[in-house]
Amino acid sequence: MPVSGLPPYDPNNIFARILRGEIPCKKVHEDAHTLAFHDIAPQAPVHVLVIPKGAYVSMADFTARAPAEEQAAFLRAVGEVARQLGLEAAGYRVLSNMGQHGGQEVPHLHVHIFGGRPLGKMLAKE
Ligand code: 5GP
Repeated sequence: MPVSGLPPYDPNNIFARILRGEIPCKKVHEDAHTLAFHDIAPQAPVHVLVIPKGAYVSMADFTARAPAEEQAAFLRAVGEVARQLGLEAAGYRVLSNMGQHGGQEVPHLHVHIFGGRPLGKMLAKE
């Protein structure tokens, strides 16, 4: 069950369908707990999404419910994917949108990895 106050997990969200193989993706990494693939609408020369294989709505849900092994694997995968993509020397950005104010569109936890050019200020000014 999701954390109280969070929406229930929708098993038909687009990333759940990618995990089930119903929708293709350009995979860059997979391990027992994590999948990483290129974003369909990249906002930087490199734009990859890292998702846990478990059914977690968001960062809030994942950090409240996921076993420590899954949380560790997810964080490790983020670093490994960035390394594998050759982003470490020049640097990169990791971002996760959560809920309404975060502007989260897909209700399955995902971390964006952006790189390949200078990425500017962290947030747009109001
Ligand atoms: P959010 O706004 O929820 O943080 O980010 C969702 C991301 O998922 C967006 O960057 C969007 O381009 C990406 N996305 C949405 N649908 C698909 C899809 O079917 N395949 C892939 N690879 N990315 C998707």
